[in-house]
Amino acid sequence: MAKKKSMQKKVTKKTVSKKTVKKQAKKIVKLSGKVEEPIILQPVRGMRDILPGEQPYWQQVRKVLENSAIEYGFSRIDTPVVEYENLFTRPIGEGSDVIDKELYSFKSRSRDNVALRPEFTTSIARAYIQHGMNILPKPVKLFSMGRAYRYEKPQEGNYREFRQGNFEIFGEDDPILDAQIIQMSASILKNLGIKNVQFHVNSIGTVESRKEYFKLLRSYFNSKKHKLSSRYRDLIKTNPMRIFDSKDDKCMQVCAGAPQAIDHLDKESREHFKNLLEYLDELDLPYTINPTLVRGLDYYTRTVFEIYSSDEDGKKHALGGGGRYDQLTETLGSEAVPAIGLGLGMDRLVLEMKRLKAKKYQMPRPKVFLAQLGNLAKKKSLKTFAEIEKAGILVAESFGRGSLKAQLRYASKLGVDVTLIIGQKEALEGTIIVKNMITGTQETIIKDKVIPEIKKCLKSSVKVSNK
Ligand code: AMP
Repeated sequence: MAKKKSMQKKVTKKTVSKKTVKKQAKKIVKLSGKVEEPIILQPVRGMRDILPGEQPYWQQVRKVLENSAIEYGFSRIDTPVVEYENLFTRPIGEGSDVIDKELYSFKSRSRDNVALRPEFTTSIARAYIQHGMNILPKPVKLFSMGRAYRYEKPQEGNYREFRQGNFEIFGEDDPILDAQIIQMSASILKNLGIKNVQFHVNSIGTVESRKEYFKLLRSYFNSKKHKLSSRYRDLIKTNPMRIFDSKDDKCMQVCAGAPQAIDHLDKESREHFKNLLEYLDELDLPYTINPTLVRGLDYYTRTVFEIYSSDEDGKKHALGGGGRYDQLTETLGSEAVPAIGLGLGMDRLVLEMKRLKAKKYQMPRPKVFLAQLGNLAKKKSLKTFAEIEKAGILVAESFGRGSLKAQLRYASKLGVDVTLIIGQKEALEGTIIVKNMITGTQETIIKDKVIPEIKKCLKSSVKVSNK
C-alpha cells in the first residue's frame, strides 16, 4: 500500500513538474528549429480524467439514474454541449454568477457567439420548442445525462467540467409533479446508498408577483448597503433576490433580516406551495422550508428546492436541486409551458458514495477463459473468441501472454468456470480442450461443438454452486 502511494506521488509529480515541461520545451526547439509551446501532459485546470478504477461508482450512478428515468416515465434526450450563447444568457440572466463569471463562451470559426452548456434545462427547453413537443400528450418527461461546464474555482466537488443527471417535466403546473420529482430524487439517493440528505424547499412566486416584493427588497438592501460588498450592491438594482445566493458571512447576516419571498406570494403561488407541502407530508418526506433559498438562475418561478448532504464536519454539500420554470419557454420566444426540473450533480454523488462506502457497480464476471499456445493456435483462437462472444457468453483471454502457465494462472485469478485450451496439436486437428474448473475434469472436443459444450459445463457449474 505504502509503495502504491509513493508511486502515485511520483506519477503526479512527473505530470506537473515544471522541470519536465521545460525539458520538453527544449527538446521541441532542438527538433523543429523553432520554439513551440510544450505539450502539457495533464487536462486543463478544473477538468479531470475518470480512470477505470473509479468507473464502478460512475456506472452505478448512471444505472440508477437510467432506471429511475424508465420507472418514472422519462424519455431520453441528448442535446449538444455547445449552443448559441444567448440561449443561456437571456433566460439564466446577466448578472448571475453562472453567466457573468462561469460561462465558457467563445467565438466559433464562423464568428458565432457560442458557449459550452453550464446546465441542461435551457437546452432541453430549446429542443422542446424546436421539435414541436407541445403537441405530445402532457406531461412530456425528458431525461438527460452528460457534461456541463462552469468556470468555477476548482476544488473537491467543484469542477470546471462536471456531469449532471437531468429530469425535466413539461406541460403541467400541478404541484403534485413538484412533489413527485422531489420524491424521485429521494428514491435515487436511497438507491445509491446515500443517507442523511436534507431537502430544502421554497417558493419564489411568479415574475409578476415579484415586482412588488422586489420593491420591498430594494428598499431593505439599500438601507443596509454599507454592509454589502460592491458586487451585491450592484444586484440591488438588477435582481435583489440574487443577493440571497451569497456565501459571504456579512451578506448572509443582512439577508437573514430581509423580507422573504414566501411572505409576499400571489394567491395562486401560495396555494401552489401549500399543496406541494401537503403532498410532501403525505409522502412522509422530511423537508425544511428555507425562505432564503432562491437559486441563482433567473428563469425559476414558484417552487425551488435543493438537496444537501452533510459530512463528518457538518459541512453541507449540494447534491442537486431544481425548481419550476413556468415562463422559460416564453422567454425563449414561444408560448408559455409550465415545467419543472431536477438536476443532480453526478460528480458529487460519486464523492458521497465513496465517503459513505456505498455499493458500487459489479462488473460482469467472465465465465470462460480461452488459452492458447503456439502461433497457429493463436490465430485459430481469435476466431473462436469471436464465436463464443457472439453466442452471448462472456469470455476472457490473454492473447499477449506467452506461457500457458501464466495464462492458466490468470484464468484461475479471474475465477472462471470453464477454461478452453488450444495448443499446436488441437489447432492442427481442429479440436479444443475444455476444462471444467469446478469439477476439474477435462475433455477434448471438436471445435464446432465448443458452444454447446461450454453451455453444458456452465449449466452443471450452476447446479454445483447451488448445492
Ligand atoms: P445547480 O443547478 O447549479 O444547482 O447545479 C445542480 C447540481 O450540479 C449541484 O447541486 C451540484 O451537485 C452540481 N454542480 C453544479 N456545479 C458544479 C461544479 N462546478 N462541479 C461539480 N458539480 C457541480
